[in-house]
Amino acid sequence: MRHITLFLLACLLAACVSAPPPRPPATVVLISLDGFRPSELGTGRAPNLDAIARDGVRAEYMRPSYPSLTFPNHYTLVTGLRPDHHGVVQNTMRDAVLGRFRIKDTRATDDARWWNAAEPLWVTAERAGLPTATMFWPGSSAAIGGVRPREWRPYDHGFPAETRVDTVLGWLTRPAAERPRFITLYFERLDEASHDHGPDSPEARAAVSAVDGYVGRLRAGIAANGLRDAVDLVVVSDHGMAEVQPGHEIAVDTMVPADVAEPVTTGQSLGFQPLPGREAEARQQLLGRHEHYECWTRETLPARWHYGRNPRVPPIVCQMDEGWNAQTAATVNRRVPGASRGDHGFDPALPSMRALFVAEGPSFRHGLRLPAFDNVDVYPMLAHLIGVTPRDNDGNPATLQPALVRGR
Ligand code: AMP
Ligand code: ZN
Ligand code: ZN
Repeated sequence: MRHITLFLLACLLAACVSAPPPRPPATVVLISLDGFRPSELGTGRAPNLDAIARDGVRAEYMRPSYPSLTFPNHYTLVTGLRPDHHGVVQNTMRDAVLGRFRIKDTRATDDARWWNAAEPLWVTAERAGLPTATMFWPGSSAAIGGVRPREWRPYDHGFPAETRVDTVLGWLTRPAAERPRFITLYFERLDEASHDHGPDSPEARAAVSAVDGYVGRLRAGIAANGLRDAVDLVVVSDHGMAEVQPGHEIAVDTMVPADVAEPVTTGQSLGFQPLPGREAEARQQLLGRHEHYECWTRETLPARWHYGRNPRVPPIVCQMDEGWNAQTAATVNRRVPGASRGDHGFDPALPSMRALFVAEGPSFRHGLRLPAFDNVDVYPMLAHLIGVTPRDNDGNPATLQPALVRGR
């Protein structure tokens, strides 16, 4: 009898010793590789992303929201809202009260009134008492709803990529109680190389490897600090990239004269504001199908774009065909003849606009490949991972549920 009791006691003790200590919740690092095409996976140019895709979770691809531009899609990723709903409807905007918004104008990008229609995840987390930190992300330098990330940096294009990674590693290696629970990290290098030289150029290919290397530096730092069980990495892009062949560019004033309708935005998704009294003329000249583009009133845009209700969307929207671009005559004339370029901003349904989604960490299953999904679906998963109640959003929380290990 005594033997049995002792044996049972020993078993209990062993169970206590071998039971894992309660795991502190992981930190989520959301990394954006601007303009990264999922078709780069498996080419050998991005071994770190391939490893994440192989050992963690990979989406076939992710569909960007309309328009397939940087600011609208980055804000979608952290709010789960379509651009029409979160209010950052373009990289370039005009608002009746706020005036003009351009991504290079820090007075505008830092003004919370452009962002306040939505609440990004870092604000929700801070309000719940969870520390957050951003190593760049559109919106992170504005006090949205009066709240900024606990740590943030004003966007600086020249800030070295390695220092960005090391800054994040510095945050991750803080004692668990002070460690941010949600971190963002952003790299523009590939987007810029792809715009300047085309997505299949040697320069863009080198940039694919470079941004993969930044992810590698972060993974190595996480492993070296024994943090692999404490960090979930979610690596995304905002959109893909299409080739724009030499000469595939038209001047905006050939679409409609400037004294009939003013272009609010140029590029691939264009907004026109008819001049007072010239509305009928503007509609007559622009609406419908043209060679290389098609235009709609904002009320009649294709429903699949979920776009046009927001008052910041100009009355007429024109969408360029894949690989075509509309610019001011001055810009068209400045282009180097014969040089290919890259652009995005084309229909989000096009294969060239597909975005990246791969993830790894203690919360993610191993070796899972998910079918394609919309980028609004990322937000509910991020909110779940850090343990906050998501705000109203356009995403489907069921999409990414299969990606998570049970109990996370
Ligand atoms: P685009 O290709 O025009 O959609 O925008 C890409 C550009 O956005 C990049 O070249 C970056 O320089 C710029 N950008 C990215 N994040 C920010 C930010 N937080 N603040 C200002 N500019 C940014
Ligand atoms: Zn972008
Ligand atoms: Zn770009």
